[in-house]
Amino acid sequence: MDLRTIGVIGAGQMGGGIAHVCALSGFDVRLLDLDDSRLAEAKEKIERDMHRQASRGKVGDSDVSAALARISTSTDYSIFGDCDLVVEAATEDESIKREILKALVPHLSADALIATNTSSISITRLAAVTDRPGRFIGMHFMNPVPAMQLVELIRGIATEQDTFEAVEALALALGKTVSVAEDFPAFIVNRILMPMINEAIYTLYEGVGSVRSIDTALKLGANHPMGPLQLADFIGLDTCLAVMHVLYDGLADSKYRPCPLLVKYVEAGWLGRKTGRGFYDYSGDEPVPTR
Ligand code: NAD
Repeated sequence: MDLRTIGVIGAGQMGGGIAHVCALSGFDVRLLDLDDSRLAEAKEKIERDMHRQASRGKVGDSDVSAALARISTSTDYSIFGDCDLVVEAATEDESIKREILKALVPHLSADALIATNTSSISITRLAAVTDRPGRFIGMHFMNPVPAMQLVELIRGIATEQDTFEAVEALALALGKTVSVAEDFPAFIVNRILMPMINEAIYTLYEGVGSVRSIDTALKLGANHPMGPLQLADFIGLDTCLAVMHVLYDGLADSKYRPCPLLVKYVEAGWLGRKTGRGFYDYSGDEPVPTR
């Protein structure tokens, strides 16, 4: 199965990044979001990020212009009619993803594959919404997609071997390294990472340390490249909370209870970098801790 044309649903941090790496690797890309302004923002960000890569000598200027020309955008699902694979990368909410998958299926060719970039939701359950559970898979890219090496691949109960091999070959063609996880809540990366982030938020909530002291402690004490609160802001606090809910509900264990402070921040619309405020305030030149 040769995948040449890749659709991406959701032009946020992840969808934009997936479109970016696919286009730079020579694939044609069809990118969809809810409205034209989000698509225009995503296209501008992809362009800025590619030019930054070119200025560091990682790609040539002509590669950038060719890659940008390979990305087309639309709010209409009919753009996916010629896609070999569509990657769903919209908001981490099962009801949103189910509605998207239902809307997508009538526009696909019979043998097209579907992947979801979900951080935590059951691949088997999402696959069951579609007409093709055998050609459905979890393809979990990391943020930021152009910089991060890993793609976690997750088979649903019905995923066929051909589907797995085609998507694994795509990940390798994008220059990524694959890690295979079973279809359990939050798979491998977020099963381990999110409880740590949630615990860091409890540590802040209980007054054990300030934002700065918690992040400095983990950076210098555990050799993490980013503190856990900085990382939470980077991922998006809505995504962190959604993953904790999936862990809590899916594994029925109170150790995954989302920290009430995380819940409150999401209720306030303080979602991290993408909204300008989370555990840090991003309105100035440098991020400033908010607690
Ligand atoms: P984001 O908030 O940056 O972007 C989500 C995008 O989905 C937005 O542009 C939104 O307009 C769009 N969207 C929402 N509903 C839609 C609909 N019905 N149709 C089309 N588009 C719709 O979120 P993100 O960080 O890019 O996360 C997207 C997915 O990737 C989630 O499933 C998330 O769990 C997963 N993920 C996130 C990270 C991370 O670090 N942020 C890492 C790996 C995977």
